[in-house]
Amino acid sequence: MDTPDMDTNERFAALRKILAEVGDLGSAAGLLSWDQETYMPKGGLEGRAAVLSTLAGLAHDAFTGDQVGDLLAGLEEASRAGELSDEQIALVGETRRDYDRSVRLPASLVKQLVEARSRALPAWQQARAESDFARFRPHLELLLDLKRQEAQAIGYRQAPFDALLDQYEAGARQSDLEILFRDLQRELQPFVRAILDSGITVDTMPVRQSFDEERQKAFSAEVVRAMGFDFEAGRIDRATHPFCSGIHAGDVRLTWRSQKDDLRPAFFGIVHEAGHGLYEQGLSREWQKTPLGEPASLGVHESQSRLWENLVARGRPFWQYSLPLLKRHFPELQDDIDAERIYRAVNEVRPSLIRVEADELTYNLHIVLRFELECRLFAGELAAADLPEAWNQKMVELLGIRPDSDAGGVLQDIHWSMGAFGYFPTYTLGNLYAAQLFEAAERALGELAPAISRGEFEPLREWLREQVHVHGRRFKPRALIERATGEAPGQAAFMRYVRRKFGEIYEL
Ligand code: ZN
Repeated sequence: MDTPDMDTNERFAALRKILAEVGDLGSAAGLLSWDQETYMPKGGLEGRAAVLSTLAGLAHDAFTGDQVGDLLAGLEEASRAGELSDEQIALVGETRRDYDRSVRLPASLVKQLVEARSRALPAWQQARAESDFARFRPHLELLLDLKRQEAQAIGYRQAPFDALLDQYEAGARQSDLEILFRDLQRELQPFVRAILDSGITVDTMPVRQSFDEERQKAFSAEVVRAMGFDFEAGRIDRATHPFCSGIHAGDVRLTWRSQKDDLRPAFFGIVHEAGHGLYEQGLSREWQKTPLGEPASLGVHESQSRLWENLVARGRPFWQYSLPLLKRHFPELQDDIDAERIYRAVNEVRPSLIRVEADELTYNLHIVLRFELECRLFAGELAAADLPEAWNQKMVELLGIRPDSDAGGVLQDIHWSMGAFGYFPTYTLGNLYAAQLFEAAERALGELAPAISRGEFEPLREWLREQVHVHGRRFKPRALIERATGEAPGQAAFMRYVRRKFGEIYEL
């Protein structure tokens, strides 16, 4: 392609054509990955890995060729000359970000990472099954080494760890998160302590009894349909882990799992994933297959799922709406189970060893722990060999409980076996953003409880769509939250929310 002769419009069209091809390859890979987790027979594993690797290679080659570099350079010149719209400037800026990241990583390092990950994953699975950290340790050490090299290759301003954080949460820095998480911990830990000392226990029986699993799904699907999840543009299938896979805005796949004797995993899992799904369905069609048609960050993505799961579906007004629905699906439920009893049952606070089973409050202490250990690992202050003990000590310090095995401690999460360092903070960022967004929505729309208690979710959903979904990556996460809520990301709105809610339940 002879880009010097092109005018700005032609350059844009040429760039969008390449981005569209890369996006299509990504969609194909996304669908194949979804299939792998849902319907693919076991024997397909090796063949599928090869197909995914080929697709990833094609996408990488198409994106990192000279064409994209030349087109970006020409468009950046046009931007300096004031020829581009705000949206075009954002599109060029975000594409530049992705491009630099891709071309700065040497092919040999990418290959080493892929290989290290593919060996680390089964090693982690076995280590966890045997509760034996030593088996996983050499793989972890190799991944840490490779990710340090990755950080050096990509570049950073302050800490090497920033380069890794940035790929999940654009612009996030270790030093900022240290302050944010310290402030959060300082308020959250004594609050959890006060709850435990209150002597009040929550009766979880209403949600822990026998519930037919297909009817759990039917009930949950009815709720997410009311939330506005569009089943003409999405579906729900069974998998071992719940997740949301946006093939594109018109095809969003949710997965679910269930437990016969507990309503919570299936129901809150589906509502959570549908929160992610609404974001995917609400992305801009106009800018699809460009960064402006992609979610802003993992933290912002998680804010959408947590907002629906926690601020909406673990709220009292929500159960006033959904209890009659629940009783229609489960007529055998006792008459004395009312909305108030369910509301309390789904808001039990209890420190536990496993992050994914944690309540809304202690969950964030699990994240504080992981973030601190990751920072120390990358700063060279902590050796992988000392990780299990450091983990256990920190659990005692933060949650007052000590894991009695590696499986129930340092080996519980899959993330590190995938080399995903810097990922965990996005979960808590999601919780904090969610509380800020909900407050801001109520400032704009008035108190939401009356509408929610009637099952009317449209005002909230449309507000989120306007403030968050349609912008894609047009704004950096921090700017997006500031723009939508009028304040920088922080812990204050979250603490106001949990103090009000749990303060009442636990009579503090
Ligand atoms: Zn999520």
